[in-house]
Amino acid sequence: MSYQYDLIAIGGGSGGVAAARRAAKHGAKCAVVEFDRLGGTCVNRGCVPKKVMWNAAHIAHTIGDVAGYGFDVEQKSFDWTRLVTDREKYIARLNGIYEANLAKENVEHLQGFGSLVDAHTVKVGDKSYTAERILLAPGGTPTVPEIPGAELGITSDGFFELTEMPKKVAVVGAGYIAVELAGMLHSLGAEVSLIIRREHFLREFDDLLSSTLTETMHAEGLKIINNTELAELKSSGSEINATTKDGRDLGHFDQVIWAIGRRPLSAELNPQNAGIEVNSNGYIPTDKWQATNVENIFAIGDVTGREQLTPVAIAAGRRLAERLYAGKTDRHLNYDNIASVVFSHPPIGAVGLTEAKAREKFGDDVKCYQAKFTPMYHAFTAHPQKTAMKLVVTGADEKIVGIHMIGAGVDEMLQGFAVAVKMGATKKDFDDTVAIHPTSSEELVTLV
Ligand SMILES: Cc1cc2nc3c(=O)[nH]c(=O)nc-3n(C[C@H](O)[C@H](O)[C@H](O)COP(=O)(O)OP(=O)(O)OC[C@H]3O[C@@H](n4cnc5c(N)ncnc54)[C@H](O)[C@@H]3O)c2cc1C
Repeated sequence: MSYQYDLIAIGGGSGGVAAARRAAKHGAKCAVVEFDRLGGTCVNRGCVPKKVMWNAAHIAHTIGDVAGYGFDVEQKSFDWTRLVTDREKYIARLNGIYEANLAKENVEHLQGFGSLVDAHTVKVGDKSYTAERILLAPGGTPTVPEIPGAELGITSDGFFELTEMPKKVAVVGAGYIAVELAGMLHSLGAEVSLIIRREHFLREFDDLLSSTLTETMHAEGLKIINNTELAELKSSGSEINATTKDGRDLGHFDQVIWAIGRRPLSAELNPQNAGIEVNSNGYIPTDKWQATNVENIFAIGDVTGREQLTPVAIAAGRRLAERLYAGKTDRHLNYDNIASVVFSHPPIGAVGLTEAKAREKFGDDVKCYQAKFTPMYHAFTAHPQKTAMKLVVTGADEKIVGIHMIGAGVDEMLQGFAVAVKMGATKKDFDDTVAIHPTSSEELVTLV
Protein backbone atom coordinates (compact mmCIF):
# COMPACT_ATOMS: atom_id res chain seq x y z
CA MET A 1 0.00 0.00 0.00
CA SER A 2 1.45 3.41 -0.85
CA TYR A 3 0.51 6.60 0.94
CA GLN A 4 0.88 10.29 0.08
CA TYR A 5 2.86 10.95 3.26
CA ASP A 6 4.96 9.00 5.72
CA LEU A 7 3.57 11.10 8.57
CA ILE A 8 0.69 13.56 8.96
CA ALA A 9 0.54 15.51 12.22
CA ILE A 10 -2.84 16.98 13.15
CA GLY A 11 -2.04 20.14 15.10
CA GLY A 12 0.57 22.76 14.24
CA GLY A 13 1.49 23.57 17.85
CA SER A 14 4.46 22.73 20.04
CA GLY A 15 4.26 18.94 19.62
CA GLY A 16 3.02 18.52 16.04
CA VAL A 17 5.53 20.91 14.49
CA ALA A 18 8.47 19.53 16.52
CA ALA A 19 7.68 15.93 15.58
CA ALA A 20 7.07 16.60 11.88
CA ARG A 21 10.21 18.70 11.50
CA ARG A 22 12.37 16.08 13.22
CA ALA A 23 10.83 13.27 11.15
CA ALA A 24 11.39 15.25 7.92
CA LYS A 25 15.00 15.92 8.91
CA HIS A 26 15.47 12.15 8.92
CA GLY A 27 13.94 11.75 5.47
CA ALA A 28 10.21 11.29 6.13
CA LYS A 29 7.66 12.99 3.88
CA CYS A 30 5.54 14.95 6.34
CA ALA A 31 2.59 17.32 6.56
CA VAL A 32 1.21 19.37 9.44
CA VAL A 33 -2.51 20.19 9.56
CA GLU A 34 -3.41 23.42 11.36
CA PHE A 35 -6.66 25.38 11.20
CA ASP A 36 -5.39 28.38 13.15
CA ARG A 37 -2.07 30.20 13.36
CA LEU A 38 1.06 28.02 13.50
CA GLY A 39 2.74 27.68 16.89
CA GLY A 40 -0.29 26.48 18.84
CA THR A 41 -1.34 27.48 22.32
CA CYS A 42 2.14 28.30 23.57
CA VAL A 43 2.96 30.86 20.91
CA ASN A 44 -0.47 32.37 20.36
CA ARG A 45 -2.45 32.08 23.61
CA GLY A 46 -0.11 30.67 26.24
CA CYS A 47 3.54 30.80 27.30
CA VAL A 48 4.69 33.55 24.96
CA PRO A 49 2.03 36.29 25.41
CA LYS A 50 1.85 35.32 29.09
CA LYS A 51 5.58 35.84 29.63
CA VAL A 52 5.40 39.23 27.87
CA MET A 53 2.66 40.32 30.29
CA TRP A 54 4.60 38.84 33.22
CA ASN A 55 7.68 40.81 32.18
CA ALA A 56 5.58 44.00 32.16
CA ALA A 57 4.19 43.16 35.60
CA HIS A 58 7.70 42.45 36.85
CA ILE A 59 8.84 45.86 35.59
CA ALA A 60 5.88 47.49 37.40
CA HIS A 61 7.07 45.81 40.62
CA THR A 62 10.63 46.96 39.99
CA ILE A 63 9.49 50.57 39.50
CA GLY A 64 7.79 50.27 42.88
CA ASP A 65 11.05 48.99 44.37
CA VAL A 66 13.49 51.60 43.10
CA ALA A 67 12.82 54.27 45.75
CA GLY A 68 14.44 51.96 48.30
CA TYR A 69 17.61 52.09 46.24
CA GLY A 70 17.65 55.88 46.17
CA PHE A 71 15.98 56.51 42.80
CA ASP A 72 13.23 59.07 42.38
CA VAL A 73 11.13 57.52 39.58
CA GLU A 74 7.45 58.01 39.08
CA GLN A 75 5.30 55.62 37.03
CA LYS A 76 3.12 58.10 35.19
CA SER A 77 1.08 55.64 33.17
CA PHE A 78 1.02 52.15 31.72
CA ASP A 79 -0.07 51.76 28.08
CA TRP A 80 -1.67 48.29 27.93
CA THR A 81 -2.92 48.88 24.36
CA ARG A 82 0.58 49.63 23.08
CA LEU A 83 2.10 46.62 24.84
CA VAL A 84 -0.59 44.30 23.44
CA THR A 85 -0.13 45.70 19.92
CA ASP A 86 3.64 45.16 20.09
CA ARG A 87 3.18 41.72 21.67
CA GLU A 88 0.94 40.64 18.81
CA LYS A 89 3.46 41.90 16.24
CA TYR A 90 6.11 39.81 17.98
CA ILE A 91 3.81 36.77 17.87
CA ALA A 92 3.09 37.36 14.16
CA ARG A 93 6.86 37.24 13.59
CA LEU A 94 7.03 33.93 15.47
CA ASN A 95 4.16 32.58 13.33
CA GLY A 96 6.25 33.48 10.25
CA ILE A 97 9.31 31.74 11.70
CA TYR A 98 7.22 28.59 12.29
CA GLU A 99 6.05 28.70 8.66
CA ALA A 100 9.60 29.22 7.39
CA ASN A 101 10.95 26.39 9.56
CA LEU A 102 8.38 23.98 8.14
CA ALA A 103 9.31 25.02 4.59
CA LYS A 104 13.03 24.66 5.38
CA GLU A 105 12.49 21.00 6.33
CA ASN A 106 10.08 20.41 3.40
CA VAL A 107 7.16 19.78 5.74
CA GLU A 108 3.89 20.69 4.01
CA HIS A 109 1.51 22.94 5.89
CA LEU A 110 -2.10 21.94 5.21
CA GLN A 111 -4.24 24.84 6.38
CA GLY A 112 -7.62 23.68 7.70
CA PHE A 113 -9.37 21.56 10.26
CA GLY A 114 -8.20 17.94 10.26
CA SER A 115 -10.20 14.89 11.22
CA LEU A 116 -9.77 11.15 10.84
CA VAL A 117 -11.55 9.29 8.05
CA ASP A 118 -9.86 5.99 8.89
CA ALA A 119 -6.55 4.86 10.37
CA HIS A 120 -4.59 6.10 7.34
CA THR A 121 -6.71 8.99 6.03
CA VAL A 122 -7.06 12.57 7.25
CA LYS A 123 -9.72 14.92 5.93
CA VAL A 124 -8.82 18.61 5.72
CA GLY A 125 -11.70 20.70 4.44
CA ASP A 126 -13.05 18.83 1.43
CA LYS A 127 -9.76 17.06 0.63
CA SER A 128 -8.43 13.77 1.96
CA TYR A 129 -4.79 12.82 2.48
CA THR A 130 -3.30 9.43 3.24
CA ALA A 131 -0.34 8.64 5.48
CA GLU A 132 1.45 5.57 6.72
CA ARG A 133 1.43 7.06 10.22
CA ILE A 134 -0.71 9.74 11.85
CA LEU A 135 0.24 11.86 14.84
CA LEU A 136 -2.51 13.42 16.95
CA ALA A 137 -1.37 16.69 18.54
CA PRO A 138 -4.46 18.92 18.73
CA GLY A 139 -3.81 20.30 22.25
CA GLY A 140 -6.70 21.60 24.32
CA THR A 141 -9.01 24.52 24.93
CA PRO A 142 -10.23 26.34 28.07
CA THR A 143 -13.49 25.24 29.68
CA VAL A 144 -16.22 27.38 31.25
CA PRO A 145 -18.67 26.21 33.91
CA GLU A 146 -22.29 25.49 33.14
CA ILE A 147 -23.87 28.29 35.16
CA PRO A 148 -26.25 31.04 34.07
CA GLY A 149 -24.36 33.95 32.51
CA ALA A 150 -21.06 32.03 32.15
CA GLU A 151 -20.74 33.45 28.63
CA LEU A 152 -20.30 36.94 30.11
CA GLY A 153 -16.89 35.84 31.35
CA ILE A 154 -13.80 35.27 29.23
CA THR A 155 -11.08 32.60 29.36
CA SER A 156 -7.30 32.88 29.09
CA ASP A 157 -7.86 33.06 25.31
CA GLY A 158 -10.04 36.16 25.86
CA PHE A 159 -7.51 37.63 28.29
CA PHE A 160 -4.96 37.71 25.47
CA GLU A 161 -7.48 39.52 23.25
CA LEU A 162 -8.05 42.37 25.73
CA THR A 163 -6.89 45.60 24.10
CA GLU A 164 -7.60 47.68 27.20
CA MET A 165 -6.70 46.91 30.78
CA PRO A 166 -9.68 45.92 32.91
CA LYS A 167 -9.79 47.80 36.21
CA LYS A 168 -11.68 45.36 38.40
CA VAL A 169 -11.33 41.66 37.66
CA ALA A 170 -12.45 38.35 39.13
CA VAL A 171 -10.19 35.45 38.18
CA VAL A 172 -11.83 32.10 38.88
CA GLY A 173 -9.64 29.02 39.33
CA ALA A 174 -6.91 27.49 41.47
CA GLY A 175 -4.43 26.22 38.90
CA TYR A 176 -1.29 27.90 37.64
CA ILE A 177 -3.04 29.82 34.86
CA ALA A 178 -5.48 31.44 37.34
CA VAL A 179 -2.67 32.34 39.73
CA GLU A 180 -0.54 33.80 36.94
CA LEU A 181 -3.32 35.90 35.40
CA ALA A 182 -4.42 37.21 38.80
CA GLY A 183 -0.84 38.13 39.73
CA MET A 184 -0.12 39.90 36.45
CA LEU A 185 -3.31 41.95 36.50
CA HIS A 186 -2.76 42.92 40.13
CA SER A 187 0.85 43.94 39.53
CA LEU A 188 -0.19 46.04 36.54
CA GLY A 189 -2.67 47.96 38.67
CA ALA A 190 -6.03 46.17 38.41
CA GLU A 191 -8.14 45.39 41.47
CA VAL A 192 -8.18 41.59 41.47
CA SER A 193 -10.19 38.94 43.31
CA LEU A 194 -8.98 35.37 42.93
CA ILE A 195 -11.94 33.07 43.48
CA ILE A 196 -11.11 29.48 44.43
CA ARG A 197 -13.39 26.56 45.12
CA ARG A 198 -11.42 25.06 48.00
CA GLU A 199 -9.16 26.38 50.75
CA HIS A 200 -5.93 26.74 48.73
CA PHE A 201 -4.72 27.26 45.17
CA LEU A 202 -1.90 25.34 43.42
CA ARG A 203 -2.81 22.19 45.31
CA GLU A 204 -0.63 19.97 43.16
CA PHE A 205 2.45 21.94 44.32
CA ASP A 206 4.20 21.57 47.69
CA ASP A 207 2.25 23.23 50.54
CA LEU A 208 5.18 25.52 51.30
CA LEU A 209 4.77 27.22 47.91
CA SER A 210 1.03 27.70 48.07
CA SER A 211 1.14 29.02 51.65
CA THR A 212 4.05 31.41 50.97
CA LEU A 213 2.39 32.79 47.83
CA THR A 214 -0.89 33.21 49.71
CA GLU A 215 0.92 35.27 52.40
CA THR A 216 2.55 37.44 49.72
CA MET A 217 -0.72 37.99 47.87
CA HIS A 218 -2.47 39.00 51.10
CA ALA A 219 0.37 41.38 51.97
CA GLU A 220 0.19 42.99 48.55
CA GLY A 221 -3.57 43.46 48.57
CA LEU A 222 -4.68 40.79 46.11
CA LYS A 223 -8.02 39.53 47.38
CA ILE A 224 -8.38 35.75 47.68
CA ILE A 225 -11.93 34.52 48.06
CA ASN A 226 -11.67 30.82 48.97
CA ASN A 227 -14.17 28.00 49.55
CA THR A 228 -16.43 29.72 47.04
CA GLU A 229 -18.14 28.68 43.82
CA LEU A 230 -19.86 31.11 41.51
CA ALA A 231 -23.54 30.45 40.88
CA GLU A 232 -24.41 33.12 38.33
CA LEU A 233 -23.07 36.06 36.34
CA LYS A 234 -25.42 38.87 35.38
CA SER A 235 -24.78 41.76 33.06
CA SER A 236 -25.22 45.16 34.65
CA GLY A 237 -24.48 47.92 32.15
CA SER A 238 -20.86 47.50 31.14
CA GLU A 239 -20.14 45.50 34.30
CA ILE A 240 -20.71 41.92 35.41
CA ASN A 241 -22.28 41.03 38.73
CA ALA A 242 -21.22 37.74 40.35
CA THR A 243 -23.10 35.78 42.99
CA THR A 244 -21.97 32.62 44.78
CA LYS A 245 -23.61 29.26 45.41
CA ASP A 246 -23.91 30.12 49.10
CA GLY A 247 -25.89 33.23 48.20
CA ARG A 248 -23.23 35.94 48.49
CA ASP A 249 -23.10 38.92 46.15
CA LEU A 250 -19.45 39.50 45.22
CA GLY A 251 -20.25 42.81 43.53
CA HIS A 252 -19.42 44.12 40.07
CA PHE A 253 -16.41 43.41 37.87
CA ASP A 254 -15.22 44.74 34.47
CA GLN A 255 -14.13 41.21 33.57
CA VAL A 256 -14.61 37.74 34.95
CA ILE A 257 -11.90 35.34 33.76
CA TRP A 258 -12.58 31.61 33.86
CA ALA A 259 -9.36 29.69 34.47
CA ILE A 260 -10.97 26.52 35.78
CA GLY A 261 -9.32 24.01 33.48
CA ARG A 262 -8.87 22.88 29.89
CA ARG A 263 -10.27 20.03 27.83
CA PRO A 264 -8.46 18.11 25.11
CA LEU A 265 -9.58 18.72 21.51
CA SER A 266 -9.94 14.99 20.83
CA ALA A 267 -13.64 14.53 19.98
CA GLU A 268 -13.32 16.94 17.04
CA LEU A 269 -10.77 14.56 15.44
CA ASN A 270 -13.48 11.90 14.96
CA PRO A 271 -11.27 9.36 16.73
CA GLN A 272 -13.96 6.67 16.43
CA ASN A 273 -13.42 6.56 12.63
CA ALA A 274 -9.99 5.07 13.24
CA GLY A 275 -10.93 3.10 16.34
CA ILE A 276 -8.91 5.38 18.66
CA GLU A 277 -9.58 4.88 22.34
CA VAL A 278 -10.40 8.06 24.29
CA ASN A 279 -10.77 8.07 28.10
CA SER A 280 -13.68 9.55 30.05
CA ASN A 281 -11.96 12.96 30.30
CA GLY A 282 -11.38 13.07 26.56
CA TYR A 283 -7.64 12.32 26.76
CA ILE A 284 -6.05 9.87 24.35
CA PRO A 285 -4.15 7.21 26.33
CA THR A 286 -0.64 6.46 25.08
CA ASP A 287 2.10 4.09 26.19
CA LYS A 288 5.71 5.06 26.80
CA TRP A 289 6.27 5.09 23.02
CA GLN A 290 3.44 7.67 22.56
CA ALA A 291 1.50 4.91 20.76
CA THR A 292 -2.31 4.84 20.90
CA ASN A 293 -4.28 1.61 20.75
CA VAL A 294 -4.14 1.81 16.92
CA GLU A 295 -0.79 0.57 15.63
CA ASN A 296 0.11 3.39 13.24
CA ILE A 297 -1.43 6.29 15.19
CA PHE A 298 0.45 8.19 17.90
CA ALA A 299 -0.46 11.06 20.21
CA ILE A 300 1.62 13.67 22.02
CA GLY A 301 1.21 16.82 24.07
CA ASP A 302 -1.78 18.09 25.99
CA VAL A 303 -4.21 15.67 24.32
CA THR A 304 -2.53 12.78 26.14
CA GLY A 305 -3.25 14.34 29.56
CA ARG A 306 0.34 13.98 30.76
CA GLU A 307 2.41 16.98 31.98
CA GLN A 308 0.82 19.74 29.94
CA LEU A 309 3.83 21.86 29.11
CA THR A 310 5.36 22.99 25.84
CA PRO A 311 8.83 21.44 26.31
CA VAL A 312 7.13 18.13 27.18
CA ALA A 313 5.15 18.10 23.91
CA ILE A 314 8.29 19.05 21.96
CA ALA A 315 10.49 16.46 23.67
CA ALA A 316 7.92 13.68 23.22
CA GLY A 317 7.46 14.61 19.53
CA ARG A 318 11.17 14.74 18.73
CA ARG A 319 11.88 11.47 20.52
CA LEU A 320 9.02 9.77 18.70
CA ALA A 321 10.31 11.02 15.33
CA GLU A 322 13.82 9.80 16.12
CA ARG A 323 12.53 6.40 17.12
CA LEU A 324 10.41 6.02 13.98
CA TYR A 325 12.68 7.63 11.39
CA ALA A 326 16.25 7.74 12.75
CA GLY A 327 16.59 4.15 13.92
CA LYS A 328 16.85 5.12 17.62
CA THR A 329 14.68 2.21 18.65
CA ASP A 330 14.66 2.90 22.40
CA ARG A 331 14.14 6.69 22.21
CA HIS A 332 11.18 7.86 24.28
CA LEU A 333 10.38 10.53 26.84
CA ASN A 334 10.82 9.72 30.51
CA TYR A 335 8.14 11.77 32.29
CA ASP A 336 9.87 11.66 35.72
CA ASN A 337 11.33 14.81 37.25
CA ILE A 338 10.02 17.33 34.76
CA ALA A 339 10.63 20.82 36.13
CA SER A 340 7.95 23.48 35.97
CA VAL A 341 7.63 27.14 36.81
CA VAL A 342 4.61 29.22 37.80
CA PHE A 343 5.04 32.82 36.72
CA SER A 344 3.51 34.25 39.85
CA HIS A 345 4.89 37.26 41.76
CA PRO A 346 7.34 36.08 42.96
CA PRO A 347 7.72 33.01 40.72
CA ILE A 348 7.56 29.39 41.79
CA GLY A 349 9.79 26.56 40.59
CA ALA A 350 9.42 22.87 41.32
CA VAL A 351 10.86 19.55 40.23
CA GLY A 352 10.17 16.05 41.52
CA LEU A 353 7.95 14.93 44.37
CA THR A 354 6.23 17.24 46.84
CA GLU A 355 6.79 16.37 50.50
CA ALA A 356 3.28 14.88 50.66
CA LYS A 357 3.81 12.71 47.54
CA ALA A 358 7.24 11.60 48.78
CA ARG A 359 5.71 10.53 52.11
CA GLU A 360 2.99 8.61 50.22
CA LYS A 361 5.68 6.81 48.22
CA PHE A 362 8.49 6.35 50.77
CA GLY A 363 6.66 6.55 54.12
CA ASP A 364 8.89 7.66 57.00
CA ASP A 365 12.03 7.39 54.90
CA VAL A 366 11.69 11.04 53.88
CA LYS A 367 13.44 14.08 55.26
CA CYS A 368 13.01 17.73 54.32
CA TYR A 369 15.43 20.62 54.53
CA GLN A 370 13.92 24.05 54.18
CA ALA A 371 14.56 27.75 54.55
CA LYS A 372 12.47 30.90 54.40
CA PHE A 373 14.13 34.30 54.27
CA THR A 374 13.94 37.81 52.88
CA PRO A 375 16.38 38.02 49.96
CA MET A 376 18.90 40.85 50.11
CA TYR A 377 17.23 42.67 47.19
CA HIS A 378 14.04 43.05 49.21
CA ALA A 379 15.82 44.34 52.32
CA PHE A 380 15.57 47.71 50.56
CA THR A 381 12.15 47.56 48.89
CA ALA A 382 8.55 48.20 49.73
CA HIS A 383 7.64 44.64 48.60
CA PRO A 384 9.35 42.49 51.23
CA GLN A 385 8.54 39.26 49.36
CA LYS A 386 9.88 36.17 51.08
CA THR A 387 11.84 33.41 49.38
CA ALA A 388 11.19 29.84 50.53
CA MET A 389 12.97 26.64 49.51
CA LYS A 390 12.54 22.99 50.34
CA LEU A 391 14.62 19.92 49.49
CA VAL A 392 12.86 16.57 49.82
CA VAL A 393 15.30 13.68 50.29
CA THR A 394 14.94 9.96 50.86
CA GLY A 395 17.04 6.96 51.90
CA ALA A 396 20.29 6.66 53.81
CA ASP A 397 22.15 8.45 51.02
CA GLU A 398 19.59 11.31 51.11
CA LYS A 399 18.80 11.20 47.42
CA ILE A 400 17.06 14.40 46.36
CA VAL A 401 13.59 13.55 45.07
CA GLY A 402 12.07 17.04 45.12
CA ILE A 403 13.06 20.70 45.01
CA HIS A 404 10.42 23.36 45.68
CA MET A 405 11.11 27.08 45.60
CA ILE A 406 9.32 30.40 45.57
CA GLY A 407 11.06 33.73 45.34
CA ALA A 408 12.76 36.24 43.07
CA GLY A 409 14.82 34.48 40.42
CA VAL A 410 13.77 30.89 41.11
CA ASP A 411 12.31 30.64 37.60
CA GLU A 412 15.82 30.91 36.15
CA MET A 413 17.46 29.06 39.05
CA LEU A 414 15.54 25.81 38.69
CA GLN A 415 16.80 24.53 35.32
CA GLY A 416 20.32 23.75 36.53
CA PHE A 417 19.11 22.15 39.73
CA ALA A 418 16.70 20.03 37.67
CA VAL A 419 19.70 18.58 35.81
CA ALA A 420 21.19 17.57 39.17
CA VAL A 421 17.94 15.88 40.25
CA LYS A 422 17.68 14.09 36.92
CA MET A 423 21.23 12.80 37.43
CA GLY A 424 20.33 11.43 40.89
CA ALA A 425 22.06 14.02 43.09
CA THR A 426 22.16 13.52 46.86
CA LYS A 427 22.11 16.05 49.69
CA LYS A 428 25.87 15.44 50.08
CA ASP A 429 26.44 16.45 46.43
CA PHE A 430 24.67 19.73 47.19
CA ASP A 431 26.66 20.16 50.44
CA ASP A 432 29.90 19.53 48.53
CA THR A 433 29.08 22.25 46.01
CA VAL A 434 30.62 25.55 47.03
CA ALA A 435 28.03 28.33 47.19
CA ILE A 436 27.87 31.39 44.96
CA HIS A 437 27.66 34.45 47.19
CA PRO A 438 25.67 36.62 47.57
CA THR A 439 22.73 34.96 45.80
CA SER A 440 19.48 33.29 46.81
CA SER A 441 20.49 30.07 45.08
CA GLU A 442 23.35 29.53 47.54
CA GLU A 443 20.72 28.70 50.16
CA LEU A 444 19.94 25.47 48.30
CA VAL A 445 23.48 24.16 48.75
CA THR A 446 23.81 25.29 52.38
CA LEU A 447 20.59 23.94 53.92
CA VAL A 448 20.99 22.27 57.32
C1 LIG B 1 -2.44 30.58 29.41
C2 LIG B 1 -1.45 29.47 29.20
C3 LIG B 1 -0.16 29.62 29.64
C4 LIG B 1 0.76 28.60 29.46
N1 LIG B 1 2.03 28.80 29.89
C5 LIG B 1 2.96 27.83 29.71
C6 LIG B 1 4.31 28.03 30.12
O1 LIG B 1 4.67 29.08 30.66
N2 LIG B 1 5.19 27.05 29.91
C7 LIG B 1 4.84 25.86 29.32
O2 LIG B 1 5.69 25.00 29.12
N3 LIG B 1 3.55 25.63 28.92
C8 LIG B 1 2.62 26.59 29.11
N4 LIG B 1 1.32 26.38 28.69
C9 LIG B 1 0.96 25.05 28.15
C10 LIG B 1 1.40 24.90 26.71
O3 LIG B 1 0.89 25.95 25.93
C11 LIG B 1 0.88 23.55 26.18
O4 LIG B 1 1.28 22.53 27.06
C12 LIG B 1 1.44 23.25 24.79
O5 LIG B 1 1.10 24.25 23.88
C13 LIG B 1 0.91 21.89 24.32
O6 LIG B 1 1.36 21.61 23.02
P1 LIG B 1 0.48 20.70 22.04
O7 LIG B 1 1.32 20.52 20.82
O8 LIG B 1 -0.03 19.53 22.77
O9 LIG B 1 -0.80 21.59 21.72
P2 LIG B 1 -0.93 23.07 21.16
O10 LIG B 1 0.32 23.84 21.30
O11 LIG B 1 -2.15 23.60 21.79
O12 LIG B 1 -1.15 22.87 19.62
C14 LIG B 1 -2.27 22.26 19.11
C15 LIG B 1 -2.59 22.89 17.77
O13 LIG B 1 -3.50 22.05 17.08
C16 LIG B 1 -4.46 22.84 16.43
N5 LIG B 1 -5.62 21.97 16.21
C17 LIG B 1 -6.42 21.43 17.16
N6 LIG B 1 -7.30 20.59 16.59
C18 LIG B 1 -7.05 20.62 15.26
C19 LIG B 1 -7.63 19.98 14.16
N7 LIG B 1 -8.62 19.10 14.32
N8 LIG B 1 -7.15 20.26 12.92
C20 LIG B 1 -6.13 21.14 12.76
N9 LIG B 1 -5.52 21.76 13.77
C21 LIG B 1 -5.97 21.50 15.02
C22 LIG B 1 -4.68 24.01 17.36
O14 LIG B 1 -5.19 25.12 16.68
C23 LIG B 1 -3.27 24.24 17.89
O15 LIG B 1 -2.58 25.19 17.11
C24 LIG B 1 0.37 27.39 28.83
C25 LIG B 1 -0.94 27.23 28.38
C26 LIG B 1 -1.84 28.25 28.57
C27 LIG B 1 -3.25 28.07 28.08
